[in-house]
Amino acid sequence: MPAKSNLSVNKTSTYVGRFAPSPSGPLHFGSLVAALGSYLQARKAKGRWFVRIEDIDPPREVIGASQQILDTLEQHSLLWDDIPVYQSQRGELYDSKIAWLIEQGHTYYCQCTRADLAVLGGGTLCACAIKNQAVAGAAIRFNNTQVPTQFNDVVQGRVCANKNSSEAQFAIKRKDGLYAYQLAVVVDDIAQGVTQVVRGADLLHATFYQLALYQAFGLAAPSYAHLPVVESQPGKKLSKQNHALALDNKTARQNIIDALFFLGLEPPILLKSAPLQELLDWALNVWEIRTIPAKLASNDNRIQAL
Ligand code: GLU
Repeated sequence: MPAKSNLSVNKTSTYVGRFAPSPSGPLHFGSLVAALGSYLQARKAKGRWFVRIEDIDPPREVIGASQQILDTLEQHSLLWDDIPVYQSQRGELYDSKIAWLIEQGHTYYCQCTRADLAVLGGGTLCACAIKNQAVAGAAIRFNNTQVPTQFNDVVQGRVCANKNSSEAQFAIKRKDGLYAYQLAVVVDDIAQGVTQVVRGADLLHATFYQLALYQAFGLAAPSYAHLPVVESQPGKKLSKQNHALALDNKTARQNIIDALFFLGLEPPILLKSAPLQELLDWALNVWEIRTIPAKLASNDNRIQAL
């Protein structure tokens, strides 16, 4: 697929952003907000904006969803740079990074079930932790000893680790042999030179695991900006699991207007019927991520109205 961006990339800008959907279903309004926020942030910085399809979990993948997601982004004029990266094609890279982490003593093999680990509590190492021997059917866990306890988020401000995220010994390769999200996301953000991660605040606490991996790799982490999450009802994230409606490409302009509104931007009335690109150009002019409230007061009303 050819490069998609129709916007000029400033060669001196070092900003690299990305949108990283999992193809477990078509894009819904919540994912559009994340895509739009990261797109505007990258374009405002005249940087590059990549799309990465996070298809490392075949049991959760919906056939055709990857292409459908790309088509929907295109229909909404959210055009990316370069060719999309597919995590399913990057096993060798993940294996080499896992091998390095093993070599450096950052991991252990673990055969515990989730229930076993829950009984232990996050802070205690399981009995498996003393085993350094690869065992068939064991997960490879990251031995999270030097835990980051806080970080500064561009939207959420100072975020402190809760008990779970600070202490959990998380998997980097799962018992079923699949690569874990935390590992793949960090390895790819490093490989793609991502300088800022803009995504939904549902991943806020996953950031602690990711920061721990950056620390192990001896690399500086990107900055993080977690956008408010779209909720179907108070406290319930709009998601494929709770049957969020797929975006209708026929109403792309209105979808973008709704997503802008969710992010606190109300286009002037005349622009509401303008071509989508004009609307996005206007949004780029006024976009300022630091002014997005961490939680939007209008959130619940807005979503009920959609
Ligand atoms: N693939 C993840 C999702 O669709 C997002 C990963 C990320 O942005 O870090 O929820």
